[in-house]
Amino acid sequence: MLHAIFLLDAKSGIEYLSKQFYEDKSENETVIDPTLIAGFLNAIFSFSREARIGRLSEVQAEDLTFVYRVDQDGQVLIVALVDSETDKNLLEDILSSISTHFREQYPTVGAQWAYDSVFFEDFEVVLDQIFYKEVTEFLLEDYPDKLVARVLKLYPLYSLNTIEVLGVNAGASIREKEGKTDLNKELSQFSVSEVSKEKDKVDLIMCPFCRGKKRRKPMCNFVTGFIKGFLDLPENAVKETHCFACGDNVCSFKVTI
Ligand SMILES: [Zn+2]
Repeated sequence: MLHAIFLLDAKSGIEYLSKQFYEDKSENETVIDPTLIAGFLNAIFSFSREARIGRLSEVQAEDLTFVYRVDQDGQVLIVALVDSETDKNLLEDILSSISTHFREQYPTVGAQWAYDSVFFEDFEVVLDQIFYKEVTEFLLEDYPDKLVARVLKLYPLYSLNTIEVLGVNAGASIREKEGKTDLNKELSQFSVSEVSKEKDKVDLIMCPFCRGKKRRKPMCNFVTGFIKGFLDLPENAVKETHCFACGDNVCSFKVTI
């Protein structure tokens, strides 16, 4: 999956802005050393002179890869730090979307920029939007097939909050695009579920997201988000109260409307 994005000035190698998408977890063995990143960005900067504009190239560092493209007539270097689990099409979509939006927002970047990183601050929000939009589309490709497998791959890298937002987007997207309204029927596409008559409680009798895991707190945030997005509910309307991962015999979600 995508670990981070860097945007650099392709002429000087100076960073415009960067955004980290993974969460620092103590159990995460692949915590990235900033010096390693600086070194590799430098290497990419040297290689990029030979890269063709708009084409993807890559530099590998152990289990991580820096994929980059030179853009805007050789002005901008867009670099993605990814692991071997990353889907190539998803990455291509993310980099193309970043390129399009950056070009729109900073059409003459070389002339506009005065070595001031504040100049690009607004673009961080755009990077977030692109990340959520593209990853949600990826999760729902071939829906409901592959959804569970793809969500499970998010867990080692991203925070529960990030996973929940992706759940909200996925639920909302299915409601909006396909006009579906039956939550129980929808959840049965990828789990065994039971929605109470009053619709204030959702149980997953077989939850595919926490199977075989042990946690102190409920961890099925994708489902929490999915219910919110599908029912178009506000931020704190759904809470997972019981979870297999905590030793309960059901994953249970309380819905407050
Ligand atoms: Zn659970």
